[in-house]
Parts: sequence; C-alpha cells; structure tokens
Amino acid sequence: MINPLRKRRSRYEIKTPEQFVKMREAGLVVARTLTLLEREAKAGVTTKQLDDLAKEHIYDSGATSNFLGYHGFPGVICTSINEQIVHGIPGAQVIEEGDLVSVDCGAVVDGWHGDAAITLLIGEVAPEVAALSEANREALWAGIRAARAGTKLGDLGQVIEDAVRAAGDYGIVEDYVGHGIGTAMHMDPNVPNIGFPGRGDELEVGMAIAIEPQLTLGEYDTVTLDDDWTVVTSDGSIAAHWEHTVAITEDRPWVLTAEDGGTEILQSA
Ligand code: MG
Ligand code: MG
Repeated sequence: MINPLRKRRSRYEIKTPEQFVKMREAGLVVARTLTLLEREAKAGVTTKQLDDLAKEHIYDSGATSNFLGYHGFPGVICTSINEQIVHGIPGAQVIEEGDLVSVDCGAVVDGWHGDAAITLLIGEVAPEVAALSEANREALWAGIRAARAGTKLGDLGQVIEDAVRAAGDYGIVEDYVGHGIGTAMHMDPNVPNIGFPGRGDELEVGMAIAIEPQLTLGEYDTVTLDDDWTVVTSDGSIAAHWEHTVAITEDRPWVLTAEDGGTEILQSA
C-alpha cells in the first residue's frame, strides 16, 4: 500500500541546506566577479580585457569556470553589447560611451554551480536604454520575490511578465529562458519569463533556479550570428539581461549570486 503521507520524489535536483551553502560559495564568486567587472567596464576597454579580469578573479577565488569550454565557448563570461541579447563572445570589440553591455558569468565550487548576469550602462546612455535595463532588473526581482515553494513555474513567469508590462512596452525574449541549476549549470526545469497561469510544476524547497529575463526595446524575435553563439534582436533593437541564481528555502528566497543574499531588496516593499 502506498503511504499518501510519504513525500513524493521530486523530478528535480533537491539540495540539502549544506549543499546550498556550497552553492552560495559559487554564487559569491560570481557576484564578486561581476562587481569587479562593473568597476572596470568603461569606454575604451575590450570585452576580452573584461574576460581576462574575470578569469583571473574566478580562479584566484579557488573556483573554476562553467562557461569556459561549454560546448566550446572560449570565455569565462558572455559580453553582449546593445542589440546583442545573450551569449556574446568576449573579443576585440571595444566598449564605447553610450553602450549597454550585459555581462553573464558563472563559477563552480566543489562541483556546485552559480550563474548570474548584469547589464552595465557605459557613461551617458539614452534615457530609454537606462529605463530598459531598470525594467529588466525590476522584473528579475519581481520573479525572485515569487520564487517560493508552491509557486507554479507558469505563475512565476506571469509575475515576471506582469512586472515588464507595468514598466512599459518592451519585448520579452522567449527563445532563452531561466533554468534549474546545481550540480550542472543548466538543468530542468525551464523557468519562463512570460506567463502560463496555473501551469507548470511547483517550486519545492531545495530547488535552485536561475531566473533571467531578457528585454528589448523592440520585438522579441532573435537571430543567432554566424559565430554560432551571439544572439541578437532580429530588429536590431537594444536588449538587456539580468540574472540571479536563487535557492528555494522554507523561508524567503536566498539569492545565491547577490552579495547580501538578496536581503536588502527582498526586505524592502
Ligand atoms: Mg547566465
Ligand atoms: Mg543562466
């Protein structure tokens, strides 16, 4: 006879509190690497220079990179400028005044993965570009607030979509979504950035997910360039990208890739 009180085995990787502590170590390496890059990214710097700084910092921290060599990816970060949405390859491209640069970074400590992205505004940018990035960041944090046990993934997507729609007329990229994370960077489930009300599996205590909305000033369609990596907007519009790795706990979400664990923002209204 099946005991109805026995906990159903999850379809997803469930972490113990001790394993979350390990993931936190990886998350902090990512957070501190991105803080370093935020300081160093300025007009005249190449994206390769940022990658070199990130690589040194990740390995000096006792971590390794989950980006480097991933399906042959040559960097430890992705740098996506202006109409580039995600997966830009660091290289000779020089960052210029007025650019929007999204930087995606990951790290591994003792086999546990972290993954986060920030969008940087270089010098004076157009007001609508600054608003785009802010709307994207706000939508990420709206999703983080909803990342609690019992929330269905389609409802989490709705929270993100609602935050975007409230902020303005932005394209929400659908081709690239968030994901489970833990002993690998990309695991089930997919974490959508648009709503599927009442649908999808429920988040459970012990799951970790990367939430990563990507917004554009135009349409949501994407094109991959001939380098087989760089994803750009099909209409050439500017795109932003913000991401955090989030642990689902008995209590509030633990933002593993935020230096303060998300405390400051999550405690504010
Ligand atoms: Mg990422
Ligand atoms: Mg990710």
